[in-house]
Amino acid sequence: MNTRNIEQSVRQIIQSLPENVLLVVAAKTRTPEEVKIVIRAGIKVIGYNYVQEAEKMYQVIGNQVEWHMIGHLQRNKVKKAVKIFDMIETVDSVELAELLNKRCKLESKIMPVLIEINSGKESNKTGVLPEKVDDLILQINQLPNLRIQGLMTMGPRFGNPEDARPYFRATRAVFDRIAQAGIPNVEMRYLSMGMSNSYQIAIEEGANIVRIGTLLFGKRQ
Ligand SMILES: *Cc1c(COP(=O)(O)O)cnc(C)c1O
Repeated sequence: MNTRNIEQSVRQIIQSLPENVLLVVAAKTRTPEEVKIVIRAGIKVIGYNYVQEAEKMYQVIGNQVEWHMIGHLQRNKVKKAVKIFDMIETVDSVELAELLNKRCKLESKIMPVLIEINSGKESNKTGVLPEKVDDLILQINQLPNLRIQGLMTMGPRFGNPEDARPYFRATRAVFDRIAQAGIPNVEMRYLSMGMSNSYQIAIEEGANIVRIGTLLFGKRQ
């Protein structure tokens, strides 16, 4: 898409979102020029799946926006991730949480995190199974340099986004249950779910972070 089309789609989507919903731009494979366009059009948060790709873009863009990690975080990338990101949306194991905590302590940083839920219970996917979330949270809520602030899910991919609704709804149910459990040091503030083809349904099911790429920039090469 050309500059004007990207700007227009950003503005249109921002306008169409309820006020409480945060738009995270999924920027994988996009050029610095494209990312600068969405920032000029009003985007405040950029999401990346890979630390190395984020790092390259961070060198161009810097702190004028916030940075969310939205892909699986490899253990050997934790050090760099802590330097770049303002939120890790994809914490799904005690080991990863402990490494993050340790690194954040060294950097004197408090890191907001979301717990990634494997809502489709797909064996090839990252994220913690819905029935194991409570256990995980109870193991990591005492880590002093992390702040658990909500949940994130991808859900299975469908041609018809209506088919994703049950997975969003199930994640919302976990979100509400944990919020009501009143676990110390756990805040259920953010529910990150929905992408280009499913974000409206995700919002209907309670999402207040949506992660969108294709709809803003066009298809990835
Ligand atoms: C790529 C990606 C998105 C956005 O996908 P689009 O279909 O391009 O909107 C959202 N979340 C994650 C984790 C992604 O990797």
